[in-house]
Amino acid sequence: MATNRFQALENVLDRKAKHTSAPSDKISNFYGEMVFNHNTMQEYLTDEAYRGVQDAMVEGKRLDRKIADQVASAMKEWAISKKASHYCHWFQPLTGSTAEKHDAFFFPIEGGRAIERFEGSMLVQQEPDASSFPNGGIRNTFEARGYTAWDPSSPAYVIGKTLCIPTIFIAYTGEALDYKMPLLKALHAVDQAATEVMQFFDKNVTKVNATLGWEQEYFLVDKALVAVRPDLAMTGRALFGHAPAKGQQLDDHYFGSIPERITAFMRDFETEALRLGIPVTTRHNEVAPNQFECAPVFEETNLANDHNLLLMDVLEKTARKHDFRVLFHEKPFAGLNGSGKHNNWSLATNTGHNLLSPGKTPKTNMMFLAFFINTLKAIHDHADILRASIASSGNDHRLGANEAPPAIISAFIGSQLTQVLDRLVANVKSEEMTPEDKMELQLNMGKIPQILLDNTDRNRTSPFAFTGNKFEFRAVGASANCASAMIALNTIMASQLRIFKNDVDHLIEKGNRKDEAILKVLRDYTVASENIRFEGNGYGEEWVEEARKRGLPNLKDTPRALDALIDKKNMALFEEVGVLSKVEMHARHTIELENYVMKLQIESRMIFDIAQTMILPAAIQYQTDLANNVNALNTLLGTEAKKGTVAQMQLIREIAEHIDGIKTNIENMLDERRKANAIKNVRDKSIAYCDKVKPYFEMVRKHSDKLEQLVDDDRWPLPKLREMLFTR
Ligand code: ADP
Ligand code: MG
Repeated sequence: MATNRFQALENVLDRKAKHTSAPSDKISNFYGEMVFNHNTMQEYLTDEAYRGVQDAMVEGKRLDRKIADQVASAMKEWAISKKASHYCHWFQPLTGSTAEKHDAFFFPIEGGRAIERFEGSMLVQQEPDASSFPNGGIRNTFEARGYTAWDPSSPAYVIGKTLCIPTIFIAYTGEALDYKMPLLKALHAVDQAATEVMQFFDKNVTKVNATLGWEQEYFLVDKALVAVRPDLAMTGRALFGHAPAKGQQLDDHYFGSIPERITAFMRDFETEALRLGIPVTTRHNEVAPNQFECAPVFEETNLANDHNLLLMDVLEKTARKHDFRVLFHEKPFAGLNGSGKHNNWSLATNTGHNLLSPGKTPKTNMMFLAFFINTLKAIHDHADILRASIASSGNDHRLGANEAPPAIISAFIGSQLTQVLDRLVANVKSEEMTPEDKMELQLNMGKIPQILLDNTDRNRTSPFAFTGNKFEFRAVGASANCASAMIALNTIMASQLRIFKNDVDHLIEKGNRKDEAILKVLRDYTVASENIRFEGNGYGEEWVEEARKRGLPNLKDTPRALDALIDKKNMALFEEVGVLSKVEMHARHTIELENYVMKLQIESRMIFDIAQTMILPAAIQYQTDLANNVNALNTLLGTEAKKGTVAQMQLIREIAEHIDGIKTNIENMLDERRKANAIKNVRDKSIAYCDKVKPYFEMVRKHSDKLEQLVDDDRWPLPKLREMLFTR
């Protein structure tokens, strides 16, 4: 068996950088060429059809049948010109990845001939085999139907030989079975609420878009090495393996030139992404060895999220072409930096204004403060919803592990804005304000600097940081669909903005001038949300203690964090904002817990399997070698042998201890798993997996990682972490 590992390593060493197919052309010549975008639509559609699609895209109007047929026919014509032979509805089921149902344009007709066919009905709606996707009890088997329906706000594109149409995925009874549908609803709700609030400041604003700029982290490992690491292949993370002697302490990978194989891979995936209209600008960071990051320019949230999912797919496919495997797991290698997906978020008006950008005048600053303080209030009141939105078994390894924000939700705003808020609280009085108060306030509002010098990158330990002109939600996991976090954030923001509008209107009715009413409400919110602000080191133990005193929740594991989804007031909020019904929230809760249990089940099985069939045999064989050596020396030297076998005997005992440790722990783990599997209630089951099964993972690993340091390297069956991370 051991030879597998060395064969794999030889394969890696023999590899040459692949030839890249990246064109030498200017990027602007091929950017978006595989997208059915505005330009293409204008070229292929009649004016009437183009207007119809525009209305559907911008205002969510229904397309009539005739127009849908025209659009479908144009899309087909365009797609065939791009060499597509098939079309698919592309959707985002709650498994976490994306799914596609492919059909051919080809259609046989009489006389042994065929035509390429694609009609409006095929564009607008499809019925994939929905029974294979999680539904959390929404669909009974007799109604196991689900539909995908076209989302015209995200453009269709051609990838490979397929025309892909972004769609939502819903049950026969109308409930959402995906991430896209609630995301669109949350974005619509935040648009409406923010537009309403904007009437206080600028009546020209008729639409507000939530913007998203994500930063995707991932690891690359050679495919030959993954092939002989069943844990990586099956679970996306190394369940065994001693940390390499050289980890990221030296930080030299920051400066090292990116090896040729990886440069070739990057050029290829970037080209593919650019052709698909994903605005990747060349900006890569290496954080841990073999870890990389890609961050395109931000876009409207629904489009940005589709682009993230598409990019993950492109990364995976391109990695294969270059003999790599890409790992999106939040913590593939213990002891090294994990992978996150920062979500940069803001609100932008249709008049081109970023609402989280400090302005030039006291008036624009009041507008900035309104959206800024409302965000803090939303985070403060609904930290549990945000926490639940990023919960996953993978992210549990990362949150609070001294490299990623803790599981405690807090917000960082920097010292300048802290001062601004302090002054606001001091200057605004709840009673009638004097002219002096107002004057001072005006002065202070005018002093908010447009560029916040102490902000941006200064505090990397906060899960929710204000970075100059946007908030950065840093606790999102690398493998997650950003929609989950974006649904949560935009929903609580929509709710908060509605409350704000009401509170201000109420004070105006009571005779306050508009500006004074706004300032008074903002002052109250600032005081009420103070607890959520934390400027110190989010990784420190003191913060955990301080947060406890402040009464902020610290939910370290997924099953408990997910409770927020079925909390009565949270369900009421989601229903009121019109994003998810109680039935849908319950279903999501169930599905997330099922996903969690499934992931841990697979990991536990892999641990048993690898420990029993790979690690124990290697350790026992080496122990036998040692025992044979002791025996031989005894025969040869008789009583004199005693001294010469001390080290061997010591090793034999140490190895025996760890063999025993592994065997006992995997058997106990199996017992706990059997007990957990017998539990019917999915929440109880997930808690059993979390509290009773999972602790064995670490115990088994500890013994195995010790053995890795004792057993003859030639006999060790699994590629070591240092080999996976430093062999390219
Ligand atoms: P880092 O966190 O690594 O310092 P940058 O400051 O370079 O990252 O930018 C992070 C991301 O924030 C980029 O993807 C950028 O497009 C995005 N971003 C910038 N402005 C906004 C905005 N108004 N809304 C959403 N995302 C934004
Ligand atoms: Mg960032």
